[in-house]
Amino acid sequence: MSAATEHRYNRLTWAEMNDAIAMQKVVILPTGSTEQHGRHLPLDVDVFLVESVCLEAGRRAPDKILVLPPIAYGLNRHHIDFPGTIHIEPDVFIAFGLNILKSVAYHGFTHLLLVNGHGSNTPLIDLIARCTTLETDSVCGALGYFGLAMEAFNAVKDTEVMAHADEFETSLYLHLAPERVQMDKAAADDDVRGKYVSSDSIYTNPVRFNDYWGRWTKLGVHGDPTTASAEKGRAIFEAAVSGLIDVATEWQNWPIAQRSDQHTGPVQSQIRW
Ligand SMILES: [Zn+2]
Repeated sequence: MSAATEHRYNRLTWAEMNDAIAMQKVVILPTGSTEQHGRHLPLDVDVFLVESVCLEAGRRAPDKILVLPPIAYGLNRHHIDFPGTIHIEPDVFIAFGLNILKSVAYHGFTHLLLVNGHGSNTPLIDLIARCTTLETDSVCGALGYFGLAMEAFNAVKDTEVMAHADEFETSLYLHLAPERVQMDKAAADDDVRGKYVSSDSIYTNPVRFNDYWGRWTKLGVHGDPTTASAEKGRAIFEAAVSGLIDVATEWQNWPIAQRSDQHTGPVQSQIRW
């Protein structure tokens, strides 16, 4: 293995890292969670699925992609009534992720990406990406891997709700590691819905709100995993992997232009935020 063929960040030596920096690979930080996913799935769903997508994209495009070890914990206090769930405070998560990506930028990588697998991390990774871009000379973007697979999932899905331990996640896990999915324990559950508000607000709700899950479900599921299949999972996986390679290809070539300063008088460039 060398920098040109290795897609895993921490499998390189420091000497090989200089070659990877010279190649200007896109460095990807996967983010997930350690969180209950119903009675039928293990707690590693979000981190396992997102890391699998990132690693496969890197394996297929090692000239473009270098994948960091994932952050396996996220914002999760709303699931804390279910045994095993780990919660990280938002400010700790943002500071931790920002420290990782600023380190990567320091070494000379210019194009960074956060790829997320846990919905509740979304506002946090957006902020990490923005702060990395503002505080370094590199650029950093953020996305959820699930967004890359929506078209493929919509073509095969049997249920409407896409939220948690549902048809989507269960199918993808069935494709990647069926021996760890207990389909005999899979069951559907739904959140509490009003006209504007839902207890686990997803894409369709105008009001953003996430209640303690212990208030509205005893199962820990939002959606219907009973319709999941490995075949659907394969469609999701292929779409997410090829989509991520496309994203990395565009991102690797994204220009970092000189900023133009329109002030006519002096600015206080010593100020640090
Ligand atoms: Zn999940």
